[in-house]
Amino acid sequence: EINALNVCAIEVICAGNARVLPLSTGLDDALFEHDGQITKREIRAVTLSSLAPRRGELLWDIGAGSGSISIEWMLCDPAMRAIAIEANPERAERIGRNARMFGVPGLKIVEGSAPAALDGVPAPDAIFIGGGGSDPDVLDRAIGALKNGGRLVANAVTTEMEVLLLGYHKRLGGNLIRIDVARASPVGGMTGWRPAMPVTQWSWAK
Ligand code: SAH
Repeated sequence: EINALNVCAIEVICAGNARVLPLSTGLDDALFEHDGQITKREIRAVTLSSLAPRRGELLWDIGAGSGSISIEWMLCDPAMRAIAIEANPERAERIGRNARMFGVPGLKIVEGSAPAALDGVPAPDAIFIGGGGSDPDVLDRAIGALKNGGRLVANAVTTEMEVLLLGYHKRLGGNLIRIDVARASPVGGMTGWRPAMPVTQWSWAK
């Protein structure tokens, strides 16, 4: 059940518990059930911005983890559609729980490994690759399946995947950015910056 409070927040009631969610992207990581494999808040906000959602569009979220990217996509508008593809069965189940907790039970989940798991899945308007992308077959399949005018966004944290993205950027163009985030945290009795692993993001429109 979703009650609109105003244009920038919604109230989600699930199993009798109500929670108010801002509709800006980059929701607090702690709102999601996850096992550490989650695109962190700041990176997620930039990723949704690069995916540039439009009303009613279909997203493929490849290597969906906790489902946080699909869920924020779905929250943009009740007409949004998304398919979360996740190889790990435990995580695939967790995506379903998160989708219900966020009031977006329409999020479809495909449990399986890309690229094989992409067989027969309807063509998307946008694709996010958060896992499995170090296999070039996954990127090539994604590029092939994407509708004309669609957007593809891929995030790399490993050098193996980064080097692939550098190659695609050279061949196909698009935007390549590197996101470095540091969080203030305790150092002895004082405070210091703890850097997160840098994320290389390639985004491209077909
Ligand atoms: N964006 C996610 C985090 C992704 S972590 C979130 O915000 O929660 C990367 C995920 O990709 C992991 O859950 C891993 O199980 C999955 N994965 C890795 N290779 C895959 C493949 N070939 N097909 C599908 N999922 C894959």
